[in-house]
Amino acid sequence: MNVLVINCGSSSLKYQLINMENEEVMAIGLTERIGIEGSRVVHKTSGEKTIIEEPMKDHRDALRIVLNAIVDPKIGAVKDMKEISAVGHRVVHGGEKFAESVIITDEVKKAIQDCAELAPLHNPANLMGIDACEEILPGVPQVAVFDTAFHQTMPKASYLYGLPYELYEKHGIRKYGFHGTSHKYVAQKAAALMGKEMADLKIITCHLGNGASITAVDGGKSIDTSMGLTPLEGSIMGTRCGDLDPAIVTFIMEKENLDVAAVNNLVNKKSGILGMSCVSSDFRDVEEAADAGNEKAQVALDAFAQRVKKYIGAYMAEMGGADIIVFTAGLGENSISMRAKICEGLEGMGIKMDAEKNNVRGKETVVSTDDSAIKVAVIPTNEELMIAKDTAALVK
Ligand code: ADP
Repeated sequence: MNVLVINCGSSSLKYQLINMENEEVMAIGLTERIGIEGSRVVHKTSGEKTIIEEPMKDHRDALRIVLNAIVDPKIGAVKDMKEISAVGHRVVHGGEKFAESVIITDEVKKAIQDCAELAPLHNPANLMGIDACEEILPGVPQVAVFDTAFHQTMPKASYLYGLPYELYEKHGIRKYGFHGTSHKYVAQKAAALMGKEMADLKIITCHLGNGASITAVDGGKSIDTSMGLTPLEGSIMGTRCGDLDPAIVTFIMEKENLDVAAVNNLVNKKSGILGMSCVSSDFRDVEEAADAGNEKAQVALDAFAQRVKKYIGAYMAEMGGADIIVFTAGLGENSISMRAKICEGLEGMGIKMDAEKNNVRGKETVVSTDDSAIKVAVIPTNEELMIAKDTAALVK
């Protein structure tokens, strides 16, 4: 069975065609600048890369071009669209309605639409992708896999904020959490690495990319996670501020004379590592600047590490310990120095890093010493494979 995995942003469409018999990626690509000038598809099959430059006014145009590339005799991966058995969509927000992936029906689409208020940039784009697939691949079953679903097991004490209860009832204001597909995937892999069932483990998963979130997985269930109502809460991130004293928001609005949109833009796009370092949102640039003696860059990296460390400590307290800590995503998989900095000084808590083993990038491996009471591992995430697996399981 071949599953097409689709991840739609407001002006982008990422895709992978995965053969579920051997989990081989048959085609992978990215469509950029949908609806604006200069739109293009970067399409790859078994090492061959093709760039297709064609105007695309919407996601439907983009998908049509992608599917033509997938069945193209020269640059394609299959002979016929009939060889695509199902489509799995990444959907960012499932609110409280979805604790698991589901086959898409009109009712499900309406529910995704209803959650759009909580993810105004993402859910409408995800729906555009779903509509485009329904039109171009009629009769092919489609599945929605939600970023929030894995965290639906959080207890009320974790997900409620210290706000009037009626705001939760009226507007659904609560912690939802994100990156759920990734946290679930690496937690499963961590259990396999330990040779145990997830049900018997306490796992802390650190998904550290441009967006960063940390999750406490106790007995296979997410019991707390650092992102909140939106993906702005938690650790400091590339351009997002993470945890703040909420009074700061209204204070900045007054002092800087900013309206709601402007302050939203400031905390989401101009803060975090970018805002603190005044260098870049890309950790590689900031690490380079810090190595060259830039103090703001160094403080930004130290602050990032300190926040992640705080969450690790908090989640150990919440779970009464931990068996394994997992690092994943762009920074977690690749930054040797950041992993070392986060775990520095935690020996008293049973976490001992092995400098030699930690000298690794993008490869599944244990990076703690053999006598570390709590294991530390690097586990590359693969959200697309997880989406494809859920899709295949539901369609079967
Ligand atoms: P997202 O999917 O959230 O956009 P990624 O998981 O791709 O993000 O992670 C992107 C981040 O990972 C970037 O900030 C980048 O600097 C960082 N990163 C990638 N490779 C390295 C590396 N070798 N060293 C340090 N940071 C890295």
